[in-house]
Amino acid sequence: MTGIIVKVFGRFYSVMSDGDVINSVLRGRMKTEKTNYSNPVAVGDIVDFSINMEGLGIIESVRDRRNTFTRKDGVRSREDIIACNLDQVIAVQSFYQPQLNLRFVDRIIARSNKGNIPVLLCINKSDLMEKGDRNYVRSYYKGTDIKIKIVSAATGSRINSLKKEVAGKRSLLIGYSGVGKSSLFNRIYPGIDLKVNEVSESSGKGRHTTTNVKMYRAEDGTELIDTPGVREFGLVDIEPEDLGNCFNDFRDASETCRFRPCTHDHEPGCEVKRLVEAGIIHEDRYVSYLNILYSIQENIRNMY
Ligand code: GDP
Ligand code: ZN
Repeated sequence: MTGIIVKVFGRFYSVMSDGDVINSVLRGRMKTEKTNYSNPVAVGDIVDFSINMEGLGIIESVRDRRNTFTRKDGVRSREDIIACNLDQVIAVQSFYQPQLNLRFVDRIIARSNKGNIPVLLCINKSDLMEKGDRNYVRSYYKGTDIKIKIVSAATGSRINSLKKEVAGKRSLLIGYSGVGKSSLFNRIYPGIDLKVNEVSESSGKGRHTTTNVKMYRAEDGTELIDTPGVREFGLVDIEPEDLGNCFNDFRDASETCRFRPCTHDHEPGCEVKRLVEAGIIHEDRYVSYLNILYSIQENIRNMY
């Protein structure tokens, strides 16, 4: 039989197949098979499975993946797949409570682009927005392919516009708790209760982050994957000279840089730096890029 992984919890997997959800484990050999990843199966995977005499699903194999959203923290560790076969990653942020953190969003963008997954930036609590906030965000991402939705779960502002971007797709949600993820998605899909997961997160303290990921399905087929444990991203598997390629405007500009590859840092004749000076690429985003670049370089130095 074939199904899709909708939940990972410890060594148990929920496989959805023909509308049923079957509690499953991995066939022994799948745990020892060598792959590039620390976890052989993740939410979003299409798997072939059988059912044993006790009614437990036994996952036999995993189909090829369309894309993967991964993290890698240690230089020597392998990548963890957080979820795969996604239509988009939604970075959820808010104005003021908690503060907007575009540097965190930039890390999500780098990560998503490495996995070839489009990013939607959703900023909630627009009712708390101050003068200039909207323009700041728009100009920060000017020239990129990032879609931006500025919404309010409290007032309902732009909620329908967000729903259009989400409906019928499989989205991975990433955001700190408190930004209003539950309020927003409960408002769009009243049956979906993301909070259920938050509870299991606190009881599962210290648990590996990829072992508590869950996909919710709305009646219209929309799928939302919540990642309560994912609070930061190791980017150590991105090479310094590849980082710029994770931002579409930097990538386009690098065609004109004098040095190739160019890290857009100290190199003379750098087109990215020229665009920053000309006010075409926002200076704060360039600083955010350098910040990621230096942390990657430092990680590499620590390897030796
Ligand atoms: P989650 O942890 O991301 O799931 O966030 P919640 O949905 O639990 O919301 C966190 C807090 O923010 C709650 O006190 C909500 O009432 C509040 N909140 C959610 N959306 C909005 C909004 O659009 N505007 C304002 N001002 N507060 C909001
Ligand atoms: Zn350059």
